[in-house]
Amino acid sequence: MKKLQNYIDGKYQDPLCGQFIDNIEPATGKVYSYIPDSDEQDVEVAVNAAEKAFPIWSKMSTEERSQILVRLSEGIQNRMDEFVQAESRDNGKPVTLAAHVDIPRAVSNFHFFATAITHFSSESHYMEGLGLNYTLRKPIGIVGCISPWNLPLYLFSWKIAPALAAGNCVIAKPSEITPYTAYLLGEVAKEAGLPDGVLNILHGLGHRVGDAIIKHPKIKAISFTGGTKTGEYIARTAAPMFKKLSLELGGKNPVIIFADCDFDEMLSTTIRSSFANQGQICLCGSRILVERSIYDKFKEAFVSKVEKSVVSYPSDPKANLGAVVSEPHMEKILSYIELAKEEGGTILTGGERVILDAPYQDGYYIRPTVIEGLAYNCRTNQEEIFGPVVTIAPFDTEEEALMMANSTQYGLQTTLWTSDLKRAHRVADEAQSGIVWINSWLVRDLRTPFGGVKASGVGREGGLEALRFFTEAKNVFVKY
Ligand code: NDP
Repeated sequence: MKKLQNYIDGKYQDPLCGQFIDNIEPATGKVYSYIPDSDEQDVEVAVNAAEKAFPIWSKMSTEERSQILVRLSEGIQNRMDEFVQAESRDNGKPVTLAAHVDIPRAVSNFHFFATAITHFSSESHYMEGLGLNYTLRKPIGIVGCISPWNLPLYLFSWKIAPALAAGNCVIAKPSEITPYTAYLLGEVAKEAGLPDGVLNILHGLGHRVGDAIIKHPKIKAISFTGGTKTGEYIARTAAPMFKKLSLELGGKNPVIIFADCDFDEMLSTTIRSSFANQGQICLCGSRILVERSIYDKFKEAFVSKVEKSVVSYPSDPKANLGAVVSEPHMEKILSYIELAKEEGGTILTGGERVILDAPYQDGYYIRPTVIEGLAYNCRTNQEEIFGPVVTIAPFDTEEEALMMANSTQYGLQTTLWTSDLKRAHRVADEAQSGIVWINSWLVRDLRTPFGGVKASGVGREGGLEALRFFTEAKNVFVKY
């Protein structure tokens, strides 16, 4: 069985402790490879390599760095099918989703930041009669990038690409649950001509190698995407060391549907926003609030469409939903469905594990689930489930919809369906979230700021925000 290795200083190598962890295929529940159980010794070696590489990489011209990152992007594109198969197998998502979303987006991330850096300029502030301020934006040095399992290479590259483009050296850790495409990325980086030590990819457990990354004194910034609890721990640990922090955390996103919306478009998009990637996208809408006058019509049409969704093994071209990522995660989702029942919810459809035919009988499949009859402030409606489970509830007024939408500790995104232009702007303005989609969902322009408010995170990724995060501003004043 394949043993993955860390990519450090341009070479693949075993973890120094010699230990490996099982990598399980969610579609079958079987171990299919092993990954390094890295620890602080490996982080030390990677930091030393990055320290050596930093003067070379940071002083290379922007144009040269840009060309290497373009080649990196092309390298993934050239091996598209291999990356797609690896992502789907590691994560359990349908192959079609990895082929249309995950891997093309990783290609775009590298390409976008490869070119964005050539347009990145800094400010100057003229003081009449006195002199001129100009601001330099210098790379930070060595930075840590830690990403989750739901959109593995997509989110990994969303951090690594701007960090590298800005001239930093990177110590990166993918989720131990989905390591494979990050493993392949080392090969592509080497082929693209990225100097050794500039990108170091370490595999292993969050509380072991992840912890060593956030605590290492020479790693000056941490860009993290993952759960709110982990983000809280990272903030608590890294902030006293004065590290720069970007935290993209959990969500419990509302979808607000007004009666005057384009019903058909809303319905088909709401199916996607509820269940794409088995509901395991931080931007999925899990609390669907519907204006009372169309509530029954919506309920009937939505449930009937959800019941037609096909849950199947990832390589089945008919699969709308594949497997959820792991057994513990499946158990967590199922426990929330039980909680919803205890809280008085009615399961309108789904609510159970799906057992497929061999060889997929031990895989982690859950039927898409719709629940109604719950109070807006019960645990099911307040806590992140991160699976194919949504609740629906009616509302009477815009104020009530906003109150329910804004009632959680989270604030990542709000989706809004209405044909009333004034209301659209008004509600978007009042929504407590970093992102609002009006009459759409998951339309991403890589130039826009991405991130959440409240317990959904600190800081913004994307476009110039990411390049600003991965640089230090230095202001220089020149007296006339
Ligand atoms: P986790 O917080 O469990 O893990 C995220 C990453 O952090 C993993 O690589 C993990 O490693 C690592 N990690 C865990 N503990 C530590 C630690 N003590 N020190 C350093 N690193 C650590 O999140 P999940 O992987 O379960 O991802 C799901 C979560 O991510 C959801 O809450 C979701 O909402 C959120 N998310 C947010 C997004 C956003 O943009 N706001 C986008 C996508 C997801 P390991 O895998 O080994 O535990």
